[in-house]
Amino acid sequence: MRIFEEIKKIQDWCKEQKMLGKKIGLVPTMGYLHEGHLALVREARKHCDIVVVSIFVNPIQFGVGEDFEVYPRDFARDTELLEQEKVDAVFAPSNEEMYCRDSSTRVEVTGEIAEKLCGASRPGHFRGVTTVCSKLFNICLPDLAVFGQKDAQQVMVLEKMVRELNFPLEIIRVPIVREADGLAMSSRNVYLDPEARKQAIVLNKALGETAEAIQSGERDTARLKSRLREIIESSPRAEIDYAEIYDAYDLADVSEVDKQVIVALAVKFGRTRLIDNRLVEV
Ligand code: AMP
Repeated sequence: MRIFEEIKKIQDWCKEQKMLGKKIGLVPTMGYLHEGHLALVREARKHCDIVVVSIFVNPIQFGVGEDFEVYPRDFARDTELLEQEKVDAVFAPSNEEMYCRDSSTRVEVTGEIAEKLCGASRPGHFRGVTTVCSKLFNICLPDLAVFGQKDAQQVMVLEKMVRELNFPLEIIRVPIVREADGLAMSSRNVYLDPEARKQAIVLNKALGETAEAIQSGERDTARLKSRLREIIESSPRAEIDYAEIYDAYDLADVSEVDKQVIVALAVKFGRTRLIDNRLVEV
C-alpha cells in the first residue's frame, strides 16, 4: 500500500494509473476508521481497479468551538486496517499541504439543500466539505467516489456539486453501518460516556418508529415530527438539535408524506453531537 502526503506525488501516481487504463475509486475520510468506512472501501473495490482512501481532518469544515482539535486520530491503526483491505493508496496530507497560507478559493452549493439541517446548525460546514472534496477529486482523479448515507445531507450536496460543476465521476452511496444495538457507527461515538452511549440508541429507535408510522399510513409530518421528538426526549440526556422530515431528493418541505422522505436527526449528548437518518418510501 502506498502512502502519500504530497499532492503532486499522488496526483502524478493517479495520472499514471489512468494512463494504464485503471479505474480509480476514492473514499474520502477523516480517519479513525470503523466498519462504516470499511464498507465504503469494499464498495469501491467492487467497481474499481485502484482504491484510494484519503485521511484528512479537514479544518475548514469545522466551526469555531467545534471538535477539530480533539477529533480522534489514530493513523497507525487506520493504515493497518486499510492494508488488510488491500487498499492501493492512502492520501494523508498535512493542513499546510492542502491549504497554502493564502488559500482563499472555496466551492459552495447554495440553496435549501445546503442550508437546512446541518447547514443551519453548522454554518460554513458544507462549504468546507465541497471545497475539500473538489480538491480531492482534482488530486486523485477518481472515476468513482464513495460516500456513506450516514451523512445523507453531505452526499446530497456533493451529488449536486458533481452534477452542476461537471466533475467527471460517479458518486456511490453506501447504506448506514450500525452497531449491534442500532447506533450508527461514527468516529465520534468514542466521546460518549457509558450512560450516554446507552441512551444514544434512542436515535435509531425514533427513526424506526417514525418509519413504521409512515408505513402504517400516517402522512402528517407535523404529527410525525412531534412523536419523533417525544421519543428522543424520553432519553434524559438527549438534547435535540434538529428532528426533521423533508423531501429525500432536495430537502424541500413536505407537509404530507406522499413521496420518499428523509427523517433526519442531530442530537447532542453532552458535548457529543450525533447525526442519523432514515429514508422512508411510501
Ligand atoms: P468521516 O470520516 O466521518 O468524515 O466519514 C467518511 C465517510 O464515511 C463519509 O462518506 C461517511 O458518510 C462515511 N461513514 C461514516 N460512518 C458511516 C456509517 N456508520 N455507515 C456508512 N458510512 C459511514
